[in-house]
Amino acid sequence: MSDQLPPWSIDVVTLFPHWLDWMREVRPIRNATEQGSLDLRALDLREHSPLKHRQVDDTPYGGGAGMVLRIDAVVAALEGHYAQELAELRAERRIVVLTPAGRIFDDALAIEWAAERRPTTILCGRYEGFDYRVHEHVATEEISVGPYVLSGGEPAAMAMVDALVRKLPGALGNEGSLDDETFSDALAGGAEYPHYTRPADFRGWGVPEILAGGHHGEIAKWRLAQSAARTERQPPAAAPRDDS
Ligand code: SAM
Repeated sequence: MSDQLPPWSIDVVTLFPHWLDWMREVRPIRNATEQGSLDLRALDLREHSPLKHRQVDDTPYGGGAGMVLRIDAVVAALEGHYAQELAELRAERRIVVLTPAGRIFDDALAIEWAAERRPTTILCGRYEGFDYRVHEHVATEEISVGPYVLSGGEPAAMAMVDALVRKLPGALGNEGSLDDETFSDALAGGAEYPHYTRPADFRGWGVPEILAGGHHGEIAKWRLAQSAARTERQPPAAAPRDDS
């Protein structure tokens, strides 16, 4: 089930382009690509480096541990890959710098971006991250995938791309999968209800009888109640910290 829009261009700029290879082989990325709704590429941060040995990092001004990704290497990568000036690129594309200190990427943002399908470039950091001028003058947004520190942006980019692509038509084998998912409107933004499958009894652990009864109205009511109870026990989105 494709649509008439051009494929959504998502480029991941990384020191490890091969990390993205397997993603293209599996759903939902493969489905969306085959159906023409996605054009996912991995771009090598080193490829256009103007420095000797295609260097991209350097020691931090002011001292301290670790290396910092250089602004000149990042801009050279972007202008080289797109054959466009940075100002033009920023006007055309969403340029995301991944950082644990960014805005949290959540389901609402995934829905918004997948509806807009603005061409998107995701910058994966490594080491101590990017020279801050990348945040200030290159990126159009700073995004975090959660309140923890990863060793690099690649797993964050992969999580984001997967969550975004699930929202594209035809990306999932069964479109209905999105309707009752955790965070969906149908469940008031709460947790999904529990699922069970065969065997009906495993080590004495049974399956709720109502699910085998075939009464769809009652099952729907039961599921909503279960979703609400599960959400109350453990809200699915991180609650804001209360430091008072
Ligand atoms: N020194 C940085 C700090 O304290 O904020 C952490 C750098 S981290 C080791 C290396 C890179 O991993 C970052 O530049 C970023 O691109 C990526 N990264 C780490 N945690 C992330 C998160 N929660 N969300 C998105 N990207 C993350």
